[in-house]
Amino acid sequence: MLSQKAFMQFPASAVALLVGCLVWCSSGHAADAPFRAGAATANITPPLGEMVVGGWEPVPADEVHDELHVRAIVLDDGDTKLAIAICDNVGIPREVFDVAKAQVEATTGIPVKNQLYAATHTHSATTARGKNSMVKDEELSGYQIFLADRIVDAVRIANKRLEPARIGWGSVEEASELFNRRWYVVEEEQRRNPFGGVDEVRMNPSSSSTLIRPAGPVDPEVSYLALQALDGRPIAILGNYSLHYVGGVPSRVVSADYFAVFAEHLGGLLETETQYPPFVGILSNGTSGDVNNINFRDRSARYAPFEKMALVGQLIARRVHESLGEVQYQDWVKLGAQQSELTLKVRKPDAEMKAYLAGVVQRPEEEKPYHRHEKTYAARTATLSESPDTVDVPLQTLRIGDLGIAAVPFEVFTEIGLEIKDRCPLSDSFTIELAGGSYGYLPSPAQHELGGYETWMGTNRVQLDASEKIVERLMSMFDAIK
Ligand SMILES: [Zn+2]
Repeated sequence: MLSQKAFMQFPASAVALLVGCLVWCSSGHAADAPFRAGAATANITPPLGEMVVGGWEPVPADEVHDELHVRAIVLDDGDTKLAIAICDNVGIPREVFDVAKAQVEATTGIPVKNQLYAATHTHSATTARGKNSMVKDEELSGYQIFLADRIVDAVRIANKRLEPARIGWGSVEEASELFNRRWYVVEEEQRRNPFGGVDEVRMNPSSSSTLIRPAGPVDPEVSYLALQALDGRPIAILGNYSLHYVGGVPSRVVSADYFAVFAEHLGGLLETETQYPPFVGILSNGTSGDVNNINFRDRSARYAPFEKMALVGQLIARRVHESLGEVQYQDWVKLGAQQSELTLKVRKPDAEMKAYLAGVVQRPEEEKPYHRHEKTYAARTATLSESPDTVDVPLQTLRIGDLGIAAVPFEVFTEIGLEIKDRCPLSDSFTIELAGGSYGYLPSPAQHELGGYETWMGTNRVQLDASEKIVERLMSMFDAIK
């Protein structure tokens, strides 16, 4: 053992080397690179008159209940930066996100593959969609350009606000607000589809249907990522919950739905109103393609406009807030990102379906249709007929320490999200849907067998086993960064 004197004589450079090595070896990174985080929002509310989508027919906006936002965080481990931004929109086409990603890379140096951008799926925002989701639009609309610019702004501000930070994550369960919306029902007439057939299950059965059982699960987990400054000041919380939207928004009114209620209420619970930089709450949509907020077994409750979304958003915020005490914050975690293009076949109507829908188109308006929306599906399948035979969809995986985040550009069925959580090689994970683009619903092959709205050609647009290919690819991407 070195005496104190001998230690004093030990060359200073050797001591520095030894200390440096200890720090390096114990935490796996250089001591001069602290973990940093920053967060920001930008307003993406359109002017009145832009078309609100989410229902069967778009309608012009004539009131704003609450402003729409993009909410962003930037993380930095010293080597790698990640940017995540979640937008109050029903679904954003890839070309809008791609424009934003290129500008963010040019202005901040954060590589395109390290940027994960998604829509919340509020049904009361105005459209950012193009003409055909299977074809990239060459020219963006005025609102699409504005949206891309504001995503860039939010990420640039979050990047500017980077400061040394601690990071942790956790989850709570809240099943009370989740209902699988696909049901086996007795009445055959309730299960008709727009193609002249009868499905096994019905989406959103009416109150007159005789319910048998739901066709799929729900995922009660509210996952979240929490960031705080070294003095304990909350920087941001990114939540993830597998619930479609809540609604209760009158027609033509713009609202960010329960996603924004969660963000604002959580800021209040954390008493962040006067702090700078401002706290940023974010709720991303998990895998909610077949899960909504309607209690099909008991529809007796009545709510005023906006009341239900407030109750749900506040409940989820409270549940996260209650559990924050258990979060194990870390001073540094390793970050990583993978991006991949997956080529999928585009679904096309066969000759038999084309012939049937040609008859539908010619059916006089006064004649009772076989299905209420058959003419809509005649148009939607015609669009698919004119589409290319394949589409390349972007998939992403992020690694934040032992937490994995998968990003999928579809409205993903909950059972697929549960499978990803189950198989992800990292110790915790969640999926953000409608990320990187918006290509329609993603049912599993087993759910395709049952039929129902989400599986119909036109609401679903890619090969029937797409979810299996997507999950396999995501797993190999997680393996590459774990
Ligand atoms: Zn929807």
